[in-house]
Amino acid sequence: MKTKPKSLPAGDLVQVRQAGEIQGNKSGISVVIPVFNEEENLDELIKRCLDVCEGMGKPFEIILVDDGSIDGSPEKIAATAEKDNGKVVGVVLNRNYGQHAAVMAGFAESNGDIVVTLDADLQNPPEEIPKLIHKIEEGFDVVGSVRIARRDTLFRRISSFVVNNVAQKATGVIMHDYGCMLRAYRRHIVEAMLKCHERSTFIPVLANTFARKTTEIEVRHDKRPNGDSKYGLWKLINLQFDLLTSMTTFPLRLLSVLGGIISSIGVGFGLFLLIMRLIHGPEWAAQGVFTLFAILFIFIGAQFVGMGLLGEYIGRIYHDVRARPRYFVQKVVGRSDLEK
Ligand code: UDP
Ligand code: MG
Repeated sequence: MKTKPKSLPAGDLVQVRQAGEIQGNKSGISVVIPVFNEEENLDELIKRCLDVCEGMGKPFEIILVDDGSIDGSPEKIAATAEKDNGKVVGVVLNRNYGQHAAVMAGFAESNGDIVVTLDADLQNPPEEIPKLIHKIEEGFDVVGSVRIARRDTLFRRISSFVVNNVAQKATGVIMHDYGCMLRAYRRHIVEAMLKCHERSTFIPVLANTFARKTTEIEVRHDKRPNGDSKYGLWKLINLQFDLLTSMTTFPLRLLSVLGGIISSIGVGFGLFLLIMRLIHGPEWAAQGVFTLFAILFIFIGAQFVGMGLLGEYIGRIYHDVRARPRYFVQKVVGRSDLEK
């Protein structure tokens, strides 16, 4: 881990770290930034982050995670990490794994008692970091943020609206802007997230599942100075499914509910036909053709219920395969040293 490669060997997971200010003593602030083809933004990003962090007067480290960029980002990160001697740490992944996997890699490398994440594209102004830190020091486990006057395309805003709504409904945690990655976490939340080994994850929601006290603050949002959003339609759809499936198996249960509704409609329709038949005679309801519909409905519904039942098992298999720890003990009180 402490190797210092001069040039980056291809196809390898390379970590560039020097004896850092806060390495090993789990205190101070870690800033984790995922980077994917952000060469033009890196210089300004690092400069502004360093200015802000130095102004806070606490030990800090800035962890830049290169997520398989194909521009000059990894070389730039490595060069800065060597120059800035421990204040900047570079983690270079061997290919593109996606923003959330990259942030996880940064978490694994972080040492700070408070961990802040932000985007590399300067849309999240680093100048907002102290606000997050102050808020978390008031005693919160997670501090999220809401982008005021969001500077994004209409398409990106609509997709966020959908994501936020689904996330709120699926997780029951009310946060207004799940898409904004300018966030701060306490160490124990980061440790809990690192113990979750599932491949697809959505960090803001995952963090909230372990947090006792969460809050949100308003932050500025800037236009992307260089490059385009790294999220196309497919990546967004993928993210949406990651979010949904990683947090809840409720859609599987929805199959049973849907089946129950369809079957009930079938039964109701059948009864209605029977009554009308008794009142108006056999000519009514096209000589029994409608009765077939009623029967069909009942069977279609039954199939859905069957699928839902399979879903219940699959949901449980999914939870077990994911093998998340059952719980995290925050502290144990009232035990003397002798009893240990
Ligand atoms: N990113 C990443 N891997 C990816 C896609 C994005 O590390 O596969 C990083 C990207 O460099 C940026 C952050 O994630 O720092 C957010 O990406 P972007 O600004 O493109 O997303 P948007 O602003 O559209 O949400
Ligand atoms: Mg962005």
